[in-house]
Amino acid sequence: MPDRKNVYLHYVETDETKHKVEHLRELGKKYNFHLVDHIGDANIIASIGGDGTFLQSLRRTNFQEDCLYLAINDDHLGFYSDFDLDNLEGIEEAMKTDMVEVLRYPLLEVTVDGQKSFYCLNECSIRSTVIKTFVIDVYIDDLHFETFRGDGLVISTPTGSTAYNKSLKGAIVDPRLASMQLTEMASLNNNEYRTLGSPLLLSGDRELVLRIVQDGNDYPIIGADNEALSIRNSKEVKIRVADRQVKMLKLKDNSFLHKVKRSFINQ
Ligand code: NAP
Ligand code: MN
Repeated sequence: MPDRKNVYLHYVETDETKHKVEHLRELGKKYNFHLVDHIGDANIIASIGGDGTFLQSLRRTNFQEDCLYLAINDDHLGFYSDFDLDNLEGIEEAMKTDMVEVLRYPLLEVTVDGQKSFYCLNECSIRSTVIKTFVIDVYIDDLHFETFRGDGLVISTPTGSTAYNKSLKGAIVDPRLASMQLTEMASLNNNEYRTLGSPLLLSGDRELVLRIVQDGNDYPIIGADNEALSIRNSKEVKIRVADRQVKMLKLKDNSFLHKVKRSFINQ
């Protein structure tokens, strides 16, 4: 990373992190890295915390296309974070060797009712906020595919496939496949309503359109990764694989498949 030296740090400040960040700053100085206060001045954005914090960092910094993202964990290693704040030697080692590589992860681009679009790294979720079920007409490109009735739908990215998607029995997807996966949350299936009933993996050039059928006081909550959007009366949600990807600095020996194995099969 010879030309990337300006680092913007995103973390929740506590007495403990404050102290550790000071050490990190000192370490950075040794390798001519500077901490900057404004995202506009950064070419590396580092988050400190779990995967959840990394998702927040991306959103707060607006999914910068020109920056390299780096996730440092302060507790356990996550799916996005390869670096450990308590292991400065490990970070130091990575800085001076070629143990690191830059990976590009697919994102979803979501547009609600034709407004400004936003990105998701894990998934976009649409859920009912009331006890009643709600109805969604699902279109793929221009085909009316199904009418869903139930608790909600989750559309996940490949890296998000190990999160919410996995709890819904979706497939784990290799991040090299720029794709999106549609999974159902408790669909009602009877003579009137019929859905596919299995996870559906869609190619990166498809467009998914969800038309929410509202009958009054039932409205959905739309989630972008770990943040809920405060849009009450949304009618149409368009989702596609974004043209933009997120660039991440990763350890070479800790690939997506290593992590899937370590987290779900054995250490
Ligand atoms: P959270 O509810 O505190 O944590 C959800 C868990 O998922 C945490 O252990 C988190 O890791 C982990 N996680 C996040 N992204 C992951 C990924 N790509 N692969 C594997 N595990 C992942 O919420 P959060 O920490 O803010 O994370 C938000 C994510 O939680 C959402 O994007 C969604 O995918 C997931 N979620 C899952 C369910 C479910 O499975 N029923 C329900 C709601 C949300 P860390 O501990 O390192 O943060
Ligand atoms: Mn979390």
